[in-house]
Amino acid sequence: MSKKYLYYFSEGNDAFGGDKVTMKNTLGGKGAGLAEMTAAGMPVPQGFTITTDACTQYYADGRQINDEITADIFEHLKGLEKITGKKFGDNTNPLLVSVRSGARQSMPGMMDTILNLGLNDEAVEGLAKKTGNARFAYDCYRRFVQMFADVVMMVPKSLFEVEIDKMKEAKGVKNDVDLTADDLKELVGTFKKIYEENEGRPFPQDPRDQLIEAVKAVFRSWDNPRANVYRKMNEIPYEWGTAVNVQQMAFGNSGDRSGTGVAFTRDPATGAKKLMGEYLINAQGEDVVAGVRTPSPISHLKDQMPEVYDQFVEIATRLENYFRDMQDMEFTIEDGHLYMLQTRNGKRTAQAALQIACDLVDEGMISEQQAVAMIDPRNLDTLLHPQFDPKALKATEPVGKALPASPGAACGKIVFNAEDAKEWAARGEKVVLVRLETSPEDIEGMKAAQGILTVRGGMTSHAAVVARGMGKCCVSGCGAINMDEANKQFTLAGKTYHEGDWLSLDGSTGNIYDGAMPTVDANVGGDFGRIMAWADK
Ligand code: ADP
Ligand code: MG
Repeated sequence: MSKKYLYYFSEGNDAFGGDKVTMKNTLGGKGAGLAEMTAAGMPVPQGFTITTDACTQYYADGRQINDEITADIFEHLKGLEKITGKKFGDNTNPLLVSVRSGARQSMPGMMDTILNLGLNDEAVEGLAKKTGNARFAYDCYRRFVQMFADVVMMVPKSLFEVEIDKMKEAKGVKNDVDLTADDLKELVGTFKKIYEENEGRPFPQDPRDQLIEAVKAVFRSWDNPRANVYRKMNEIPYEWGTAVNVQQMAFGNSGDRSGTGVAFTRDPATGAKKLMGEYLINAQGEDVVAGVRTPSPISHLKDQMPEVYDQFVEIATRLENYFRDMQDMEFTIEDGHLYMLQTRNGKRTAQAALQIACDLVDEGMISEQQAVAMIDPRNLDTLLHPQFDPKALKATEPVGKALPASPGAACGKIVFNAEDAKEWAARGEKVVLVRLETSPEDIEGMKAAQGILTVRGGMTSHAAVVARGMGKCCVSGCGAINMDEANKQFTLAGKTYHEGDWLSLDGSTGNIYDGAMPTVDANVGGDFGRIMAWADK
């Protein structure tokens, strides 16, 4: 018999306790997590995983999905139609899916994801009729055309974003949610035109073609430059490949009883035992990290949708107890119903890693040995980095305050893009990278900088997540900054800062200081000593 290349989420594992390691290699971390949560009876939109072996096969076949695997994908699609009771491309009750990457080890934001796949000119009408919500249906369609164009065909996102901004301006509204069904329908028309102008052919109307193209694009994204840089930094072997998850959509953008968010079971910056996270009402996944609107802290959900909040807390606790580690979870709420979209061991700062490991030992969840094994020695040296001199801190008023996205003290000369950061750092300058928001292309510049300051985005924005992974100081979401990227300057607290001016960031408090703050050596606390003593044992 030939190899098994596809697994439904429901067959990927046996309720909390299968051979996790083996399945993770085959299904990828995301696929394995979805299978585990499905098996545990948690609410997960259903779907199937195309294995990492299929990815290897794709590359072996000269970057093609062979006939056998293609047929198998369509077989599983049929299965998914049965499970969901919806039909792909249907004009009355269409099935929409996401196509998601998922390597063995998580590489957040490095590879590609396509949402709302399956929409075409007919299915969008079907979705509008079925939900009685044309605005929602066209919101999905405009997102899909843009994502498909960007990810699959590499038509630049900015071409579409400009049109959204133009439309918002024309209608005199500030937020995407204020655009009407007709506005969005018009945008879809414009988007399809942009697609055709760039591709030389119309936007694909056959959902089956869309699906295969999207799967190929995700396989291909394993080999994109930013993924390659990330892999090198994190010592992830190229040979592993990525799995692809095809999953029914849960719609966080279907109204005010819907939303999407991310949360951690413990604070990834400090390690404190406290549910942390944020969400956006009436939004889809990429909106939270892209910083289109400022999200609310997860604690607000308790007031807004108490049942959903309680259910989420219960699931989060179960997941942490099962994986015996801090979990980083993605969820979506559709019309008051909670859906889990991802769980994984969360990235954390070195300081948080120490506290979490010690706390888990104290809580009886793991052994001392496991605690030591949990700590990545490469991260420990960030603890030995200098901090701002407390005396100087006391004597200085910050010029701004934003989110303490990743701790540490950074001071350097201001630069406005990743290339400059790299160049300046290469000639021995200390730089602070200031961006509206970061994107995966900025990784190398972030690495070269002492610290990162963003204007938009929360604790789970791209800048925040990547900076924490790198052990790099980051202050995010400083809305008080008036950015003028074109002239490489910004104003904050009445002062204009130019490229090359000194700036200091405190990633532990979110404070921003004018000039270069003096620093002192770090003091290494009790958790560090405990872990080292266990290591000696
Ligand atoms: P990454 O690996 O970069 O985190 P994901 O595959 O997790 O990418 O997708 C990014 C986001 O897209 C998710 O956080 C989630 O909000 C959204 N998303 C993915 N699949 C679905 C789905 N089936 N329904 C709703 N939202 C989804
Ligand atoms: Mg994700």
